[in-house]
Amino acid sequence: RELVSPDADGDDRAIEGALRPKRLEDFVGQRRVREQLSLVLRSAQRRGRTPDHVLMSGPPGLGKTTLAMIIAAELGASLRITSGPAIERSGDLAAVLSTLHEGEVLFLDEIHRMARPAEEMLYVAMEDFRVDVMVGKGPGATAIPLDIAPFTLVGATTRAGLLPPPLRDRFGFVAHMDFYHPEELETILNRSAGLLGVDLHPEAAREVAGRSRGTPRIANRLLRRVRDYAEVHGNGELSLEVAQAALQLYEVDQQGLDRLDRAVLYALLRRFRGGPVGLSTLAVSVGEESETVESVAEPFLVRSGFIARTPRGRVATPEAWSHMGLTPPPDAAF
Ligand code: ADP
Repeated sequence: RELVSPDADGDDRAIEGALRPKRLEDFVGQRRVREQLSLVLRSAQRRGRTPDHVLMSGPPGLGKTTLAMIIAAELGASLRITSGPAIERSGDLAAVLSTLHEGEVLFLDEIHRMARPAEEMLYVAMEDFRVDVMVGKGPGATAIPLDIAPFTLVGATTRAGLLPPPLRDRFGFVAHMDFYHPEELETILNRSAGLLGVDLHPEAAREVAGRSRGTPRIANRLLRRVRDYAEVHGNGELSLEVAQAALQLYEVDQQGLDRLDRAVLYALLRRFRGGPVGLSTLAVSVGEESETVESVAEPFLVRSGFIARTPRGRVATPEAWSHMGLTPPPDAAF
């Protein structure tokens, strides 16, 4: 399953540092975000000020961490990294904020998962570069204001809608990251192949790109699996045949669907005649938890146009029937 998951596993973390573009000009795709960001950074530099705080929203694996690193590099600033789940109390955030250096970039990943009490503290820090440290307890407690160094916050979230509006409003720039086009993934794959020192044929790059679910992290991961296959079963060259054979072995199909995705589609089409069917019924029929089907398989199937969510349940689209090589019954619900 992990092969087409957009979340990073240990293997990804070990290699991603080496594959990350280091400058804005090397960052592939997301042209609008890149141009807007470049403007924000350059105008701040011209004025000799720290840039506005930046919020990046979008699914995992699309380059949010990479962009945060690039922002720091472009500013010639150092980068501090933390995440929402690591901030359980406002004291955790105070400890980070009060030790920032002037001009530093603070990357706060999964910002929507930060503890609520810390949010208030972050508002003040973002706006006034100040933290109010509470001293004492109960009625005698007092807030002691502490100035902190001007910094730039780069927040990342997969769920912009979950951010409280007062937090969202304190970002001067919001970058919406979108899934990548296959040609962009091809460019990323060619670049990664160069860094990994492997011989990736152009047709193979196109093949892998098409199966990568619009996500650079998945593209880089599939590339490494194809490389493994080429080393064991071939002469090390990543040709189209090798790529196809490797991806077949790993059960990642032409559209980037894996075994679970296909099992869900198959059940929906064959057992439930294309639906509508409730998600939990569908999950039981493939022997999975509802949550797994809902959070792991369904989002991509919906995004790819194979499944539609209706008030009466999940329905297969004509594309689903044709992708699975099946003919819809005349009474199929589209
Ligand atoms: P996120 O923080 O959104 O989950 P990351 O920044 O960790 O994603 O990116 C995941 C991997 O994908 C990194 O190894 C990075 O090299 C690669 N990547 C992401 N976006 C790009 C891009 N635009 N160009 C090249 N490589 C990218």
